[in-house]
Amino acid sequence: MAEKGTISIHTENIFPIIKKFLYSDHEIFLRELVSNAVDATQKLKRLSAIGEYKGEVGEDLKVKVSVDKEARKIVISDRGIGMTAEEIKKYINQIAFSGATEFVEKYKDKPDANQIIGQFGLGFYSAFMVAETVEIDTKSFKEGTEAARWICDGSTEFEITASEKTERGTDIILNVAADSDEFLEPSRLRTILTKYCKFLPVEVEFEGEVINNPNPIWTKQPSELTDEDYTKFYSELYPFSEPPLFWIHLNVDYPFNLTGILYFPKIKNEFEFTKNKIQLYSKQVFITDEVKDVVPEFLMLLHGVIDSPDIPLNVSRSFLQADSNVKKINTYITKKVADKLNEIFKKDRAGYEAKWNDINVFVKYGMLSDEKFYDKAKDFGLLQNIDGKFFTMEEYKTFVQANQTAKDGNQVWIYATDEEKQHAFIEAAQNRSYDVLKLDSVIDSHFIGLLEQKVEKTTLKRVDSETIDKLIEKDETKDMVLSEDEKTKLKEIFEKAIDNKNMMVSIEPLSPEDQPVIITMPEFMRRMKDMAKTGGGG
Ligand code: ADP
Ligand code: MG
Repeated sequence: MAEKGTISIHTENIFPIIKKFLYSDHEIFLRELVSNAVDATQKLKRLSAIGEYKGEVGEDLKVKVSVDKEARKIVISDRGIGMTAEEIKKYINQIAFSGATEFVEKYKDKPDANQIIGQFGLGFYSAFMVAETVEIDTKSFKEGTEAARWICDGSTEFEITASEKTERGTDIILNVAADSDEFLEPSRLRTILTKYCKFLPVEVEFEGEVINNPNPIWTKQPSELTDEDYTKFYSELYPFSEPPLFWIHLNVDYPFNLTGILYFPKIKNEFEFTKNKIQLYSKQVFITDEVKDVVPEFLMLLHGVIDSPDIPLNVSRSFLQADSNVKKINTYITKKVADKLNEIFKKDRAGYEAKWNDINVFVKYGMLSDEKFYDKAKDFGLLQNIDGKFFTMEEYKTFVQANQTAKDGNQVWIYATDEEKQHAFIEAAQNRSYDVLKLDSVIDSHFIGLLEQKVEKTTLKRVDSETIDKLIEKDETKDMVLSEDEKTKLKEIFEKAIDNKNMMVSIEPLSPEDQPVIITMPEFMRRMKDMAKTGGGG
């Protein structure tokens, strides 16, 4: 006989676990309490707008944060809906019963109900990460209800009494614990507030000053915004940085909800891969700047803001990775960025080419690391030749078709990795009317391999590779200034003079302007040397 039963949870046991492990960062208690205050304010505005609250809303709906170091108190006050004693019992005493979820459920047909931040019904308890005791002093918006005071020391015991509070709203009073002194420093609180609450939708006041911008531009429609709005917002996010090259306004509500603005920054050099420049928000509450998993790696070079209520708030690494919305969001962002680049390329090719220098790292990195991105980017990823001309891969194929076809039918694409050092070879190639690509950056060394793999029937050769002329058959013997016999002799003379088996001599002046003798180190030797220099392959 099997025995069935219900697993019971003892709050005495689960409480310390919640307090300790719910959030790894203690500072987020402030984010949670301020978001609750913002929620209470938004709810009041909503209820007033739909006529369910008929009283005065009042002018001052700010959320106020204050600290008293001597008294060891932090107070978070709002003029929102408040709570009755019954509601405290329901929403606060029942852990993991979210009043926010309930509100959204109840008013889900009304516009904007989903602007409420709360989700899990756990946030409030993060107060006990820093406070010895927590008090709630609150008066509901509901007429004829009494104000109530709740006090709890973080055990499962609490006390509710009547309160003298006369104004609608809630004060959360934290009596800061001995091991959390740091949070009694006003400068520390200001830093935390600026980090998490900078774009909360209700004004938040600290030390007599509003610390947030309640209407950040990503919450608006692209059609309402000018270029200046975008660049201004960029400097709000990253003061003192150079203006961005361009931006993408993300705005989607199906199959997940996401807004945001991604900026392409001007990178001074490609080693300046500044990461963690994208900030992740959920309903205007800052969550993290660790956007790994949400944003594909190659786009972590971008700057900006992503806001999605569909990204789990209590972000732990493994949770994020496994979340299916996060995967969808990742795919969506990749697609959006590709579409935007394609659009700019199609609409304004000259402008796009002018920016290529700055954006080629993103595009090439993306093509290298993301198959789906490659499929789109192959149409707007550009190749530049030594003369500074730009080509798409398709265009380049046609461009070099006639005279760079190898005996086996493949095309030979010739590239220079160092214009100065390979000067003689570039000239020689050009004299044979070969085109030479410029692929000289760190990312290019990887990109060459990708082109080799992806562009069908194409072989890439460095301009100083000794095999180019063996690959491409040329009927130019008549222009030769030297006979075969003379060439062999000359070669011997040079080889003797150099006396180094690692060097190769070729005597191939195809036209009178060419340098008659080219001394090269074979490709293999050169690679070995390069590797020894940089300390590894790559
Ligand atoms: P969540 O915000 O995810 O619902 P919390 O633990 O943060 O969960 O808060 C629990 C509930 O307590 C809220 O949903 C809300 O009903 C109530 N509450 C918390 N803070 C306030 C406040 N300042 N004003 C009114 N109600 C509040
Ligand atoms: Mg909350």
